[in-house]
Amino acid sequence: MPLKVTVDLAACQGYACCMTEAPTVFDLDESAGKATVLQPSPSDEQRAEVENAARTCPAKAITVTDG
Ligand code: SF4
Repeated sequence: MPLKVTVDLAACQGYACCMTEAPTVFDLDESAGKATVLQPSPSDEQRAEVENAARTCPAKAITVTDG
C-alpha cells in the first residue's frame, strides 16, 4: 500500500534532517526555509527512510499515513 507524506509548513523550521534521512522524498526550499515534498506517495521500499525522517524531524512537522 502506498504511503502518504505531508509536511506541516507552519511547524517546519527548515532543519533539513528530513532531506538527510530521505533525500528522494524531501528537499529544502532554501528561499522559504521550508521542506518540500518531492514524492508525496513514496513506495513501500522508501517506508523506512520516510519513517526515519518523520521521527528525526525536530519540529515533528512530518506526517506519514498509509494510503
Ligand atoms: S526535518 Fe522537519 S523541520 Fe526540518 S526541514 Fe524537514 S520537515 Fe522541516
